[in-house]
Amino acid sequence: MNWSIAAFLFLASDYVRTNTDLATMEAANEAARRAVNSLIDASGSTAPYCQIWDLQEPTILVLRRWADQIRYRKGLPWNGKLSPWYLRLFIPVVLVWAGIEGMLRWFNRLRSPH
Ligand SMILES: Cc1cc2nc3c(=O)[nH]c(=O)nc-3n(C[C@H](O)[C@H](O)[C@H](O)COP(=O)(O)OP(=O)(O)OC[C@H]3O[C@@H](n4cnc5c(N)ncnc54)[C@H](O)[C@@H]3O)c2cc1C
Repeated sequence: MNWSIAAFLFLASDYVRTNTDLATMEAANEAARRAVNSLIDASGSTAPYCQIWDLQEPTILVLRRWADQIRYRKGLPWNGKLSPWYLRLFIPVVLVWAGIEGMLRWFNRLRSPH
């Protein structure tokens, strides 16, 4: 629910919590869909809800994401590096994992091109 303390004021923007945990147009779009759903609830409308789905984040970004989380929890600013150092040990695993996922997607597209 994207509701606020002021009835009938609904928040939809880059800055509200969404499944799409990235500052992107997709996140802003999800926030808007959530706000519309709250509006439907508050107005008693029988209009269908906007669909909400989970973000399918590319596996290749997982180490960057962990690095961000670790630094954020420590109160450190973003430094653009894959730190702490031990995260780099996982690079081969993530590359293989992402490669397998890519091949599976490719095979699936071959099997059902539409
Ligand atoms: C440099 C940069 C690059 C980006 N690149 C990408 C990208 O490649 N892909 C991607 O998906 N996302 C990208 N983003 C993020 C994306 O632009 C935002 O996530 C998205 O635009 C957020 O949408 P929004 O509707 O919340 O806010 P906004 O798009 O910022 O819209 C808010 C609007 O409200 C208006 N406004 C503000 N205050 C008032 C007021 N008092 N009265 C009236 N109007 C007001 C503003 O002028 C603006 O038009 C990028 C962002 C930046 C800054």
